[in-house]
Amino acid sequence: MNQNLQQPHTSAAPALSMQGIHHAFGRHEVVKGIDLEVLPGEVVCLLGPSGCGKTTLLRIAAGLEKLQQGRVTLEGKEVARSGGRHLPPEKRSVGLAFQDSALFPHLSVLENVTFGLKHLPAGERRHRALTLLEQLGMAAHAESYPHMLSGGQQQRVALARALAPEPHLMLLDEPFSSLDARLRDQIRDDTLHVLKKVGAATLLVTHDPEEAMFMADRIALMRDGHIVQVGTPRELYCNPSDPFVVTFFGEVNELSGEVRDGQVLTPVGPWMPAGWPRAAPRGCW
Ligand code: ATP
Repeated sequence: MNQNLQQPHTSAAPALSMQGIHHAFGRHEVVKGIDLEVLPGEVVCLLGPSGCGKTTLLRIAAGLEKLQQGRVTLEGKEVARSGGRHLPPEKRSVGLAFQDSALFPHLSVLENVTFGLKHLPAGERRHRALTLLEQLGMAAHAESYPHMLSGGQQQRVALARALAPEPHLMLLDEPFSSLDARLRDQIRDDTLHVLKKVGAATLLVTHDPEEAMFMADRIALMRDGHIVQVGTPRELYCNPSDPFVVTFFGEVNELSGEVRDGQVLTPVGPWMPAGWPRAAPRGCW
């Protein structure tokens, strides 16, 4: 394990910084020049339609996908550079939880969560795992085996397992998407609570704008390999930089019109949009 990456979370440097990232599968470029930062303790949601490159970007941050172009740093330390350094995922001190995060079937819930804590004394290992299971409402299942749990319960355990080693950065890929609506709300709520309590910087991939609005300190909205806008949920909702941002967050009424003398002539009358030619802001709270 790289000792430099095991220092406490005292650095003011971004927990994650990705600079000038490009990535292609064969001739298909799916990430097209992305710069993104996650600050210490911050939850950033990578939001966008299916196929826009979210998971690829997350996998590059984790080290699961070899960087082709750009630079990745964790707390100011370079972990990947194109044509050069590539620190493997297990040396990056990141916690990973994916939609289909598999638990070890032959280990109990408690053993699954303590798995990454072998460097700690047994008592501390157990205490840390039980504390997290408690926070995620799973302490009563500590002695159960994965096949005895529902999908949602398994996801909570996967999350506890990812959080247990106190990673500097959590990378979550659609961690709630296989849950039914009611359970999803509850687990999102619990997860956000734990992430904030432990102060874990988090990059969370989702295609669900409501989820991003609920979870994120900042949202990075992606389309076709680019980031269209980064900002707080309120900034994206109230001050969209592009019509795509407006349509992504809800139903819109579209009117065609003709621009003449600083006005748009529409079938329902003339209109002068605020901030023209940018997207018109919504009425905001
Ligand atoms: P979703 O929300 O559907 O998971 P996404 O935004 O996470 O989508 P990615 O999974 O990053 O998108 O995929 C981006 C593009 O790259 C897609 O067109 C996908 O088919 C392609 N792609 C992803 N992984 C590979 C791979 N290993 N080999 C070839 N193409 C890939």
